[in-house]
Amino acid sequence: MTGISDSFQRPINYLRISVTDRCNLRCVYCMPEEGISLMPHFDILSYEEIYTLVKAAAELGINKVRLTGGEPLVRAGVADLVKMIADIDTIKDIAMTTNGVLLAKYAADLKEAGLNRVNISLDTLKPERFQKITRCGKLGETLKGIEAANEAGLTPVKINMVVMKGANDDEVIDFARKTQKDGWNVRFIEHMPVSGVDASTTLVSVNEIKKSIEPLGKLEPAQMETGNGPAKYFKLPGANGTIGFITPVTEHFCYQCNRLRLTADGKLRLCLLNEEEIDLREPLRSGASVAELKKLMEAAIAKKPKSHHLAEGKKGNGRPMSQVGG
Ligand code: SAM
Ligand code: SF4
Repeated sequence: MTGISDSFQRPINYLRISVTDRCNLRCVYCMPEEGISLMPHFDILSYEEIYTLVKAAAELGINKVRLTGGEPLVRAGVADLVKMIADIDTIKDIAMTTNGVLLAKYAADLKEAGLNRVNISLDTLKPERFQKITRCGKLGETLKGIEAANEAGLTPVKINMVVMKGANDDEVIDFARKTQKDGWNVRFIEHMPVSGVDASTTLVSVNEIKKSIEPLGKLEPAQMETGNGPAKYFKLPGANGTIGFITPVTEHFCYQCNRLRLTADGKLRLCLLNEEEIDLREPLRSGASVAELKKLMEAAIAKKPKSHHLAEGKKGNGRPMSQVGG
């Protein structure tokens, strides 16, 4: 197996899978409070179907998988899916992005099944604000989830904070302090205008974020032991943990994009911010072989766009993050 590249010579080795469009939270930047139209169960890929598609992708050179959603832990038996994927020899890294609410319950089982690590989304350390941003969540549950993930060895645990002006940007310094005091690995993410989300007044650029943590000392470049994704990592003086910056809006990283996305309803998505999708579910359900699925994926990869256009003011429209897999 030699691996596959797209038409811009970018090696493609990473698949992000949305295992469900359902979620137990309703974060203001991701889902509407109500009236969200959920996919019928029949439309959502079964675990066997996801497994078959991962197997085909692995034969093309995919060796890293991330389970996301929606909230992956609200789908029953997701550890079974982890186990199935972990049994594919050439998959070297299985990670999950989760809001952490159910992690205290499942962390040990997930580790046992073969999950390597988790990224946990957390935008505030204030209980009332947590409830406001997530519309229904309890901060304590996610904090317990973080603890459980560390105890289970789903490490390095990375904490993802979407920074929003006027909503939580005053806490950037508190999150940065956590890297010094508690060894957290924190990643600050720019708020993206996806699927009708208006980020025009809330975007906090990476430069502004860096400025607000200046009182804690000079940031020195650091290596993160896993993941060669879009984040740039640094450390503050005396910190065991790292600080990462993910800048999809102000400094896009499309030139090094190595990823594909599989939506909960079985479409291969070539870019989070581009609506083009290739349906794999229909061929799969009509009996396509792994070899035929590989051909469809290969043709799709050849069409992966060069970059998104957020910097030029274009927005990501179409499906919400929860369906595409953030
Ligand atoms: N439910 C899981 C969670 O919250 O971690 C996984 C799915 S969620 C869609 C994945 C990631 O996308 C989260 O870290 C979330 O903060 C991020 N996200 C969602 N909408 C976003 C937006 N408009 N801009 C930036 N990040 C966003
Ligand atoms: Fe749910 Fe994650 Fe979206 Fe929040 S960001 S609503 S937790 S899918």
